[in-house]
Amino acid sequence: MVNAMSKTVQIAIDGPAGAGKSTISKLLAKELGYVYIDTGAMYRAVGLKVLRCGYSSKDAEAAEQVLKTLDIDIRPSAGAQKVFLDGEDVSELIRTPEVSIAASDVSAIPAVRLAMVELQRNLAASRNVIMDGRDIGTYVLPNADIKIFLTASPEDRALRRYRELIEKNVKADYDEVLNDMLYRDKNDSTRAMAPLCAAPDADIIDTTGNALEKSVEILREHIETRLKNVL
Ligand code: C5P
Repeated sequence: MVNAMSKTVQIAIDGPAGAGKSTISKLLAKELGYVYIDTGAMYRAVGLKVLRCGYSSKDAEAAEQVLKTLDIDIRPSAGAQKVFLDGEDVSELIRTPEVSIAASDVSAIPAVRLAMVELQRNLAASRNVIMDGRDIGTYVLPNADIKIFLTASPEDRALRRYRELIEKNVKADYDEVLNDMLYRDKNDSTRAMAPLCAAPDADIIDTTGNALEKSVEILREHIETRLKNVL
């Protein structure tokens, strides 16, 4: 178990979908008493709103319209996060495969990114955070104290995501989950603004083949070691 001391610490955890970022970040944030911020949830909330309005998630003009009245309220705490969209708790609703694709589409729209990045930086100001996403170490918090890029093979990531969906009683098909993941990987890593990539000063950790406990242990040890140099 790691103990936080006086300095404010920012930990950035980036990587593709299904690498285990959010599950591991949540757990370690709880142990550390840090605030966990899931930035993907914000893009998901925008994606949900765009779909609810009946727009295509690729329509940049429509997304800009939606942003004008968008009310996203992120309520973080140690090891958890609730997302409210226009006053409604959508924390679970944003987890469907349709919303995953819409989130990836809207996240390529610069106006959406600028609005979400502002929200993310405000949430991270003057507190100890573990923030997970795609561009945290490269763009949102370029001066983060610890940067980790968590990855795994697409097949491994798809299998984990498939199992998560089944556990939540969401109807899912492995091949569809894998295709969605490949679609999002490509979208996220080829967009012009703040694409998915490892920061030059990030430590790259590959969790392929690991049970969750093993990946948690690797990250915990890694963060403990790094924190000794930071605090
Ligand atoms: O992390 P999660 O899978 O919930 O993110 C949903 C989508 O939001 C990603 O596929 C990605 O397109 C987008 N995203 C992003 N930048 C972030 C976090 C998420 O573009 N920092």
